Amino acid sequence: MSINEKATVVIGAGMVGVSCALYLQRAGHRVTLVDAHAPGSQTSFGNAATFASYACIPVNHPKLLKSLPGLMTGDERPLSISPLYGIKMLPWLIRFLRHCSRARVDETIAGLGALLRESETAALDLFQDVGGSDLIRRDGTLYLYSTNAALSAAQADIRRRREQGVRITDLGPSDIQNLEPHLNSGFAGGILYDDGFHLLSPQAMITRMTERFVANGGLWRNERIKSIDQQYADQVSVRGETQSFKTRQVVIAAGAWSTQIGGGLIDPLPLETERGYHVMFPNDAALLTRPVGLADAGLYISPLADGLRAAGTVELAGLTAPINQRRLQYIRRMVKRALPGSGESGSTWLGFRPTLPDSLPVIGRSTRHRSVIYAFGHQHVGITLGGITGKLVQQLIDHQRPQVDLAPYRPERFSR
Ligand SMILES: Cc1cc2nc3c(=O)[nH]c(=O)nc-3n(C[C@H](O)[C@H](O)[C@H](O)COP(=O)(O)OP(=O)(O)OC[C@H]3O[C@@H](n4cnc5c(N)ncnc54)[C@H](O)[C@@H]3O)c2cc1C
Repeated sequence: MSINEKATVVIGAGMVGVSCALYLQRAGHRVTLVDAHAPGSQTSFGNAATFASYACIPVNHPKLLKSLPGLMTGDERPLSISPLYGIKMLPWLIRFLRHCSRARVDETIAGLGALLRESETAALDLFQDVGGSDLIRRDGTLYLYSTNAALSAAQADIRRRREQGVRITDLGPSDIQNLEPHLNSGFAGGILYDDGFHLLSPQAMITRMTERFVANGGLWRNERIKSIDQQYADQVSVRGETQSFKTRQVVIAAGAWSTQIGGGLIDPLPLETERGYHVMFPNDAALLTRPVGLADAGLYISPLADGLRAAGTVELAGLTAPINQRRLQYIRRMVKRALPGSGESGSTWLGFRPTLPDSLPVIGRSTRHRSVIYAFGHQHVGITLGGITGKLVQQLIDHQRPQVDLAPYRPERFSR
Protein backbone atom coordinates (compact mmCIF):
# COMPACT_ATOMS: atom_id res chain seq x y z
CA MET A 1 0.00 0.00 0.00
CA SER A 2 1.39 3.40 -0.87
CA ILE A 3 1.83 5.72 2.08
CA ASN A 4 1.51 9.49 1.89
CA GLU A 5 5.01 11.01 1.64
CA LYS A 6 4.17 13.36 4.47
CA ALA A 7 3.06 10.60 6.86
CA THR A 8 5.11 11.02 10.05
CA VAL A 9 4.85 9.36 13.45
CA VAL A 10 6.31 10.99 16.56
CA ILE A 11 6.87 8.64 19.51
CA GLY A 12 6.76 10.49 22.83
CA ALA A 13 4.58 13.41 23.93
CA GLY A 14 7.01 15.13 26.29
CA MET A 15 8.23 18.65 25.56
CA VAL A 16 10.55 17.35 22.83
CA GLY A 17 8.04 15.14 21.00
CA VAL A 18 5.13 17.60 21.12
CA SER A 19 7.40 20.37 19.80
CA CYS A 20 8.51 18.08 16.95
CA ALA A 21 4.86 17.26 16.18
CA LEU A 22 3.85 20.93 16.02
CA TYR A 23 6.77 22.04 13.83
CA LEU A 24 6.23 19.09 11.46
CA GLN A 25 2.50 19.80 11.28
CA ARG A 26 3.18 23.44 10.43
CA ALA A 27 5.37 22.27 7.54
CA GLY A 28 2.52 20.21 6.09
CA HIS A 29 3.26 16.75 7.52
CA ARG A 30 0.42 14.38 8.44
CA VAL A 31 1.57 13.69 11.97
CA THR A 32 0.49 10.98 14.40
CA LEU A 33 1.69 11.61 17.96
CA VAL A 34 1.89 8.48 20.12
CA ASP A 35 2.57 8.08 23.82
CA ALA A 36 1.99 5.34 26.38
CA HIS A 37 0.99 8.02 28.93
CA ALA A 38 -0.77 11.39 28.94
CA PRO A 39 1.09 14.23 27.17
CA GLY A 40 3.69 15.93 29.38
CA SER A 41 3.20 13.48 32.25
CA GLN A 42 6.70 11.93 32.48
CA THR A 43 10.04 13.74 32.79
CA SER A 44 8.52 16.88 31.26
CA PHE A 45 6.06 17.01 34.19
CA GLY A 46 8.06 17.39 37.38
CA ASN A 47 11.15 19.38 36.42
CA ALA A 48 12.21 22.74 37.84
CA ALA A 49 10.32 24.51 35.00
CA THR A 50 13.13 26.95 34.24
CA PHE A 51 13.70 28.05 30.67
CA ALA A 52 17.45 27.73 31.07
CA SER A 53 18.94 29.19 27.88
CA TYR A 54 22.05 29.92 29.99
CA ALA A 55 22.64 26.25 30.90
CA CYS A 56 25.56 25.39 28.63
CA ILE A 57 27.86 23.94 31.34
CA PRO A 58 27.40 20.14 31.56
CA VAL A 59 27.44 18.03 34.74
CA ASN A 60 30.48 16.14 33.43
CA HIS A 61 33.05 18.79 34.02
CA PRO A 62 36.78 18.85 34.99
CA LYS A 63 35.74 19.64 38.60
CA LEU A 64 33.60 16.49 38.77
CA LEU A 65 36.67 14.22 38.66
CA LYS A 66 38.19 15.94 41.71
CA SER A 67 34.95 16.02 43.70
CA LEU A 68 33.73 12.52 42.77
CA PRO A 69 35.05 10.61 45.83
CA GLY A 70 33.37 13.10 48.21
CA LEU A 71 30.16 13.03 46.19
CA MET A 72 29.87 9.27 46.59
CA THR A 73 29.69 9.19 50.38
CA GLY A 74 27.23 10.63 52.88
CA ASP A 75 23.74 12.01 52.39
CA GLU A 76 24.60 15.74 52.15
CA ARG A 77 25.36 15.70 48.44
CA PRO A 78 23.69 16.61 45.17
CA LEU A 79 24.89 13.45 43.35
CA SER A 80 24.48 9.83 44.34
CA ILE A 81 25.34 6.57 42.62
CA SER A 82 23.68 3.28 43.49
CA PRO A 83 26.59 0.87 44.18
CA LEU A 84 24.86 -2.05 42.44
CA TYR A 85 23.72 -0.10 39.42
CA GLY A 86 27.08 1.71 39.35
CA ILE A 87 28.77 -1.59 38.48
CA LYS A 88 26.22 -2.32 35.74
CA MET A 89 26.61 1.12 34.23
CA LEU A 90 30.42 1.22 34.54
CA PRO A 91 31.08 1.38 30.75
CA TRP A 92 28.71 4.37 30.47
CA LEU A 93 30.20 5.99 33.56
CA ILE A 94 33.71 5.70 32.13
CA ARG A 95 32.55 7.36 28.89
CA PHE A 96 30.78 10.06 30.91
CA LEU A 97 33.91 10.71 32.98
CA ARG A 98 36.09 10.79 29.83
CA HIS A 99 34.02 13.78 28.80
CA CYS A 100 35.28 15.64 31.86
CA SER A 101 38.48 16.75 30.10
CA ARG A 102 38.70 20.48 29.43
CA ALA A 103 38.79 19.99 25.64
CA ARG A 104 35.72 17.74 25.58
CA VAL A 105 33.76 19.92 27.98
CA ASP A 106 34.50 22.90 25.74
CA GLU A 107 33.06 20.92 22.79
CA THR A 108 29.91 20.22 24.82
CA ILE A 109 29.63 23.88 25.85
CA ALA A 110 29.86 24.94 22.19
CA GLY A 111 27.31 22.26 21.16
CA LEU A 112 24.82 23.17 23.89
CA GLY A 113 25.46 26.90 23.38
CA ALA A 114 24.56 26.68 19.68
CA LEU A 115 21.18 25.10 20.54
CA LEU A 116 20.51 27.31 23.56
CA ARG A 117 21.05 30.53 21.58
CA GLU A 118 18.18 29.51 19.26
CA SER A 119 16.03 27.97 21.99
CA GLU A 120 13.97 30.94 23.15
CA THR A 121 12.74 32.04 19.72
CA ALA A 122 11.85 28.48 18.70
CA ALA A 123 9.99 27.68 21.95
CA LEU A 124 8.20 31.02 22.36
CA ASP A 125 6.93 30.72 18.80
CA LEU A 126 5.08 27.56 19.92
CA PHE A 127 4.15 28.69 23.45
CA GLN A 128 2.59 31.93 22.21
CA ASP A 129 0.90 30.27 19.25
CA VAL A 130 -0.96 27.86 21.55
CA GLY A 131 -2.09 30.68 23.86
CA GLY A 132 0.42 29.81 26.59
CA SER A 133 1.73 33.30 27.43
CA ASP A 134 -0.16 33.31 30.75
CA LEU A 135 1.91 30.27 31.83
CA ILE A 136 5.20 32.20 31.45
CA ARG A 137 6.81 34.34 34.19
CA ARG A 138 9.73 36.50 33.13
CA ASP A 139 11.57 37.68 36.27
CA GLY A 140 15.02 36.21 35.57
CA THR A 141 16.57 33.28 37.42
CA LEU A 142 18.83 33.47 40.48
CA TYR A 143 21.78 31.18 41.06
CA LEU A 144 23.34 31.30 44.53
CA TYR A 145 26.54 30.15 46.20
CA SER A 146 26.81 29.41 49.92
CA THR A 147 30.50 30.22 50.40
CA ASN A 148 33.06 32.63 49.00
CA ALA A 149 35.14 29.64 47.93
CA ALA A 150 32.25 28.23 45.85
CA LEU A 151 31.57 31.67 44.35
CA SER A 152 35.24 32.12 43.36
CA ALA A 153 35.41 28.59 41.95
CA ALA A 154 32.37 29.34 39.77
CA GLN A 155 33.88 32.43 38.11
CA ALA A 156 35.50 30.57 35.20
CA ASP A 157 32.16 28.95 34.26
CA ILE A 158 30.32 32.24 34.64
CA ARG A 159 32.83 33.73 32.18
CA ARG A 160 32.22 30.79 29.76
CA ARG A 161 28.49 31.40 29.93
CA ARG A 162 29.04 35.08 29.12
CA GLU A 163 31.18 34.01 26.16
CA GLN A 164 28.16 32.01 24.91
CA GLY A 165 26.16 35.25 24.90
CA VAL A 166 24.32 34.84 28.23
CA ARG A 167 23.39 38.09 30.05
CA ILE A 168 24.42 37.81 33.71
CA THR A 169 24.34 40.32 36.60
CA ASP A 170 26.65 39.71 39.58
CA LEU A 171 24.93 39.92 42.99
CA GLY A 172 26.21 40.47 46.52
CA PRO A 173 24.37 39.33 49.68
CA SER A 174 22.32 42.52 49.97
CA ASP A 175 21.26 42.40 46.29
CA ILE A 176 20.00 38.85 46.91
CA GLN A 177 18.02 39.96 49.97
CA ASN A 178 16.50 42.84 48.00
CA LEU A 179 15.37 40.51 45.24
CA GLU A 180 14.20 37.65 47.47
CA PRO A 181 13.75 38.76 51.12
CA HIS A 182 12.56 35.33 52.34
CA LEU A 183 15.89 33.67 51.50
CA ASN A 184 18.40 32.90 54.23
CA SER A 185 20.70 35.94 54.43
CA GLY A 186 23.83 33.75 54.60
CA PHE A 187 24.53 33.32 50.87
CA ALA A 188 28.01 34.56 49.92
CA GLY A 189 26.83 35.81 46.54
CA GLY A 190 25.22 34.83 43.30
CA ILE A 191 24.18 35.80 39.83
CA LEU A 192 20.98 36.76 38.08
CA TYR A 193 20.37 35.33 34.63
CA ASP A 194 18.58 38.43 33.41
CA ASP A 195 16.83 36.71 30.48
CA GLY A 196 15.80 33.61 32.44
CA PHE A 197 12.10 32.83 32.61
CA HIS A 198 10.02 29.93 33.82
CA LEU A 199 6.79 28.08 33.17
CA LEU A 200 4.11 28.04 35.85
CA SER A 201 3.24 24.48 34.80
CA PRO A 202 5.21 22.62 32.14
CA GLN A 203 2.45 20.01 31.84
CA ALA A 204 -0.27 22.64 31.31
CA MET A 205 1.84 24.13 28.50
CA ILE A 206 2.35 20.71 26.87
CA THR A 207 -1.37 19.93 27.21
CA ARG A 208 -2.22 23.15 25.37
CA MET A 209 0.36 22.33 22.69
CA THR A 210 -1.19 18.88 22.21
CA GLU A 211 -4.72 20.29 22.09
CA ARG A 212 -3.65 22.75 19.39
CA PHE A 213 -1.94 19.93 17.47
CA VAL A 214 -5.19 17.91 17.53
CA ALA A 215 -7.35 20.94 16.70
CA ASN A 216 -5.17 21.47 13.61
CA GLY A 217 -5.84 17.93 12.38
CA GLY A 218 -3.02 15.99 14.08
CA LEU A 219 -3.73 12.46 15.34
CA TRP A 220 -3.10 11.63 19.00
CA ARG A 221 -2.84 7.96 19.99
CA ASN A 222 -2.42 6.62 23.52
CA GLU A 223 -0.28 3.58 22.75
CA ARG A 224 2.95 1.93 23.91
CA ILE A 225 5.27 1.31 20.96
CA LYS A 226 7.01 -2.06 21.00
CA SER A 227 9.06 -1.97 17.79
CA ILE A 228 9.87 -0.20 14.55
CA ASP A 229 10.18 -2.61 11.63
CA GLN A 230 11.46 -2.09 8.11
CA GLN A 231 8.86 -2.16 5.30
CA TYR A 232 10.81 -0.64 2.41
CA ALA A 233 13.88 1.57 2.05
CA ASP A 234 11.70 4.63 2.68
CA GLN A 235 8.97 3.20 4.91
CA VAL A 236 8.70 1.59 8.32
CA SER A 237 5.96 0.07 10.44
CA VAL A 238 5.66 1.42 13.98
CA ARG A 239 4.11 -1.37 16.02
CA GLY A 240 2.21 -0.69 19.21
CA GLU A 241 0.47 -2.99 21.68
CA THR A 242 -2.91 -2.58 19.97
CA GLN A 243 -2.26 -0.85 16.64
CA SER A 244 0.46 -0.29 14.04
CA PHE A 245 1.28 2.73 11.91
CA LYS A 246 2.93 2.54 8.49
CA THR A 247 4.91 5.71 7.95
CA ARG A 248 7.58 7.43 5.86
CA GLN A 249 9.25 8.91 8.92
CA VAL A 250 9.26 8.13 12.59
CA VAL A 251 10.71 10.55 15.14
CA ILE A 252 11.90 8.90 18.35
CA ALA A 253 11.35 11.42 21.15
CA ALA A 254 10.73 8.90 23.91
CA GLY A 255 13.14 10.53 26.37
CA ALA A 256 15.04 8.13 28.66
CA TRP A 257 13.19 5.12 27.14
CA SER A 258 14.11 5.90 23.51
CA THR A 259 16.56 3.05 22.96
CA GLN A 260 14.23 0.42 24.45
CA ILE A 261 12.03 0.28 21.34
CA GLY A 262 12.67 -3.01 19.53
CA GLY A 263 13.01 -3.96 15.87
CA GLY A 264 16.72 -3.41 15.39
CA LEU A 265 16.51 -0.10 13.50
CA ILE A 266 17.77 2.00 16.45
CA ASP A 267 21.57 2.32 16.76
CA PRO A 268 23.06 1.00 20.04
CA LEU A 269 23.38 4.49 21.51
CA PRO A 270 24.72 4.87 25.08
CA LEU A 271 21.60 6.41 26.60
CA GLU A 272 21.38 6.45 30.42
CA THR A 273 19.26 8.27 32.90
CA GLU A 274 20.20 10.88 35.50
CA ARG A 275 17.34 10.51 37.93
CA GLY A 276 16.06 13.65 39.66
CA TYR A 277 13.47 14.35 42.34
CA HIS A 278 11.07 17.05 43.36
CA VAL A 279 9.31 17.97 46.59
CA MET A 280 6.33 20.34 46.57
CA PHE A 281 5.65 22.99 49.24
CA PRO A 282 2.01 23.69 48.36
CA ASN A 283 1.52 26.73 50.61
CA ASP A 284 4.78 28.54 49.91
CA ALA A 285 4.69 29.80 46.30
CA ALA A 286 4.56 33.39 47.58
CA LEU A 287 7.97 33.04 49.28
CA LEU A 288 9.83 33.51 45.97
CA THR A 289 9.32 35.70 42.92
CA ARG A 290 11.56 33.72 40.57
CA PRO A 291 13.37 30.34 40.43
CA VAL A 292 16.38 30.17 42.72
CA GLY A 293 19.18 27.73 41.93
CA LEU A 294 21.19 26.49 44.91
CA ALA A 295 24.54 25.77 43.29
CA ASP A 296 25.99 23.72 46.14
CA ALA A 297 22.81 21.71 46.71
CA GLY A 298 22.23 20.89 43.01
CA LEU A 299 18.62 21.98 42.92
CA TYR A 300 16.23 24.77 42.02
CA ILE A 301 13.33 26.12 44.05
CA SER A 302 10.69 27.45 41.65
CA PRO A 303 7.40 29.26 42.39
CA LEU A 304 4.80 27.43 40.26
CA ALA A 305 1.02 27.53 39.84
CA ASP A 306 0.47 24.80 42.44
CA GLY A 307 3.09 25.79 45.02
CA LEU A 308 6.83 25.99 45.49
CA ARG A 309 8.68 23.16 43.76
CA ALA A 310 12.17 22.11 44.86
CA ALA A 311 13.56 20.01 42.00
CA GLY A 312 16.95 18.58 41.15
CA THR A 313 19.83 16.40 42.36
CA VAL A 314 21.32 13.60 40.27
CA GLU A 315 20.99 9.91 41.11
CA LEU A 316 22.57 7.25 38.92
CA ALA A 317 20.42 4.18 39.59
CA GLY A 318 18.68 3.35 36.29
CA LEU A 319 15.04 3.37 35.24
CA THR A 320 13.59 0.75 37.56
CA ALA A 321 15.09 1.24 41.06
CA PRO A 322 12.55 2.37 43.67
CA ILE A 323 12.32 5.93 44.99
CA ASN A 324 15.21 6.79 47.30
CA GLN A 325 13.66 8.48 50.36
CA ARG A 326 17.07 9.82 51.45
CA ARG A 327 17.15 11.97 48.28
CA LEU A 328 13.78 13.48 49.21
CA GLN A 329 14.87 14.15 52.79
CA TYR A 330 18.01 15.84 51.43
CA ILE A 331 15.87 18.15 49.28
CA ARG A 332 13.63 19.02 52.26
CA ARG A 333 16.70 19.86 54.38
CA MET A 334 18.18 22.07 51.64
CA VAL A 335 14.90 23.96 51.26
CA LYS A 336 14.61 24.58 55.02
CA ARG A 337 18.18 25.89 55.05
CA ALA A 338 17.61 28.26 52.08
CA LEU A 339 14.06 29.33 53.00
CA PRO A 340 13.70 29.13 56.80
CA GLY A 341 10.04 30.28 56.58
CA SER A 342 8.96 27.39 54.36
CA GLY A 343 6.22 25.17 55.75
CA GLU A 344 4.95 21.61 55.33
CA SER A 345 6.11 19.69 52.29
CA GLY A 346 3.59 17.94 50.05
CA SER A 347 3.75 15.57 47.09
CA THR A 348 7.02 14.15 45.74
CA TRP A 349 8.17 12.96 42.31
CA LEU A 350 10.96 11.00 40.65
CA GLY A 351 11.88 11.72 37.02
CA PHE A 352 14.32 10.39 34.46
CA ARG A 353 16.59 12.78 32.56
CA PRO A 354 17.72 11.19 29.28
CA THR A 355 21.51 11.57 29.10
CA LEU A 356 24.27 10.58 26.69
CA PRO A 357 27.90 10.48 27.89
CA ASP A 358 28.83 13.82 26.30
CA SER A 359 25.70 15.58 27.64
CA LEU A 360 24.58 16.49 24.10
CA PRO A 361 21.32 15.21 22.59
CA VAL A 362 21.12 13.07 19.46
CA ILE A 363 19.34 14.86 16.64
CA GLY A 364 19.84 12.99 13.38
CA ARG A 365 18.96 9.96 11.27
CA SER A 366 19.49 6.37 12.29
CA THR A 367 22.41 4.77 10.46
CA ARG A 368 20.21 1.65 10.13
CA HIS A 369 17.18 3.14 8.41
CA ARG A 370 16.80 6.61 6.95
CA SER A 371 13.13 6.82 7.98
CA VAL A 372 14.10 6.73 11.68
CA ILE A 373 15.01 10.12 13.19
CA TYR A 374 16.34 10.64 16.71
CA ALA A 375 15.34 13.50 19.02
CA PHE A 376 16.36 12.54 22.56
CA GLY A 377 19.05 12.91 25.22
CA HIS A 378 18.27 16.46 26.38
CA GLN A 379 19.50 15.73 29.93
CA HIS A 380 18.98 18.77 32.23
CA VAL A 381 17.57 21.12 29.58
CA GLY A 382 14.81 19.37 27.63
CA ILE A 383 12.12 21.91 28.53
CA THR A 384 14.42 24.59 27.15
CA LEU A 385 15.59 22.68 24.06
CA GLY A 386 12.28 21.05 23.00
CA GLY A 387 11.27 23.87 20.64
CA ILE A 388 14.56 24.20 18.79
CA THR A 389 14.83 20.41 18.54
CA GLY A 390 11.37 20.28 16.94
CA LYS A 391 12.37 22.89 14.40
CA LEU A 392 15.65 21.13 13.57
CA VAL A 393 13.90 17.77 13.16
CA GLN A 394 11.45 19.34 10.70
CA GLN A 395 14.31 20.94 8.74
CA LEU A 396 16.18 17.62 8.68
CA ILE A 397 13.16 15.65 7.45
CA ASP A 398 12.33 18.27 4.80
CA HIS A 399 15.95 18.40 3.56
CA GLN A 400 16.21 22.07 4.44
CA ARG A 401 19.43 23.64 5.67
CA PRO A 402 19.21 23.29 9.49
CA GLN A 403 19.47 26.59 11.32
CA VAL A 404 22.02 25.01 13.69
CA ASP A 405 24.83 22.81 12.31
CA LEU A 406 23.76 19.29 13.34
CA ALA A 407 27.28 17.79 13.33
CA PRO A 408 27.74 17.79 17.15
CA TYR A 409 24.45 15.89 17.66
CA ARG A 410 24.93 13.16 15.02
CA PRO A 411 24.40 9.59 16.31
CA GLU A 412 27.57 8.51 14.46
CA ARG A 413 29.72 10.32 17.06
CA PHE A 414 29.42 7.27 19.34
CA SER A 415 30.82 4.86 16.77
CA ARG A 416 34.20 6.69 16.72
C1 LIG B 1 14.53 17.10 38.67
C2 LIG B 1 14.59 17.62 37.26
C3 LIG B 1 14.64 18.99 37.02
C4 LIG B 1 14.71 19.48 35.71
N1 LIG B 1 14.67 20.83 35.50
C5 LIG B 1 14.68 21.31 34.22
C6 LIG B 1 14.56 22.70 33.98
O1 LIG B 1 14.40 23.50 34.91
N2 LIG B 1 14.62 23.15 32.71
C7 LIG B 1 14.80 22.28 31.64
O2 LIG B 1 14.88 22.74 30.50
N3 LIG B 1 14.85 20.94 31.84
C8 LIG B 1 14.80 20.44 33.10
N4 LIG B 1 14.87 19.10 33.33
C9 LIG B 1 15.06 18.19 32.18
C10 LIG B 1 13.79 17.98 31.41
O3 LIG B 1 12.71 17.72 32.29
C11 LIG B 1 13.97 16.82 30.42
O4 LIG B 1 15.14 17.00 29.67
C12 LIG B 1 12.79 16.77 29.47
O5 LIG B 1 11.57 16.70 30.18
C13 LIG B 1 12.90 15.60 28.51
O6 LIG B 1 11.80 15.69 27.66
P1 LIG B 1 11.47 14.52 26.68
O7 LIG B 1 10.31 14.96 25.86
O8 LIG B 1 12.72 14.11 25.95
O9 LIG B 1 11.12 13.28 27.63
P2 LIG B 1 9.78 12.94 28.46
O10 LIG B 1 9.13 14.14 29.00
O11 LIG B 1 10.16 11.87 29.43
O12 LIG B 1 8.84 12.35 27.35
C14 LIG B 1 9.10 11.10 26.75
C15 LIG B 1 7.74 10.46 26.49
O13 LIG B 1 7.95 9.24 25.74
C16 LIG B 1 6.98 8.33 26.17
N5 LIG B 1 7.44 6.99 25.81
C17 LIG B 1 8.58 6.36 26.20
N6 LIG B 1 8.66 5.15 25.63
C18 LIG B 1 7.53 4.99 24.88
C19 LIG B 1 7.05 3.93 24.07
N7 LIG B 1 7.72 2.78 23.90
N8 LIG B 1 5.85 4.10 23.44
C20 LIG B 1 5.15 5.25 23.59
N9 LIG B 1 5.58 6.28 24.36
C21 LIG B 1 6.77 6.15 25.00
C22 LIG B 1 6.88 8.55 27.67
O14 LIG B 1 5.64 8.07 28.16
C23 LIG B 1 7.03 10.06 27.77
O15 LIG B 1 5.79 10.72 27.83
C24 LIG B 1 14.78 18.57 34.63
C25 LIG B 1 14.70 17.19 34.86
C26 LIG B 1 14.59 16.71 36.17
C27 LIG B 1 14.48 15.24 36.40
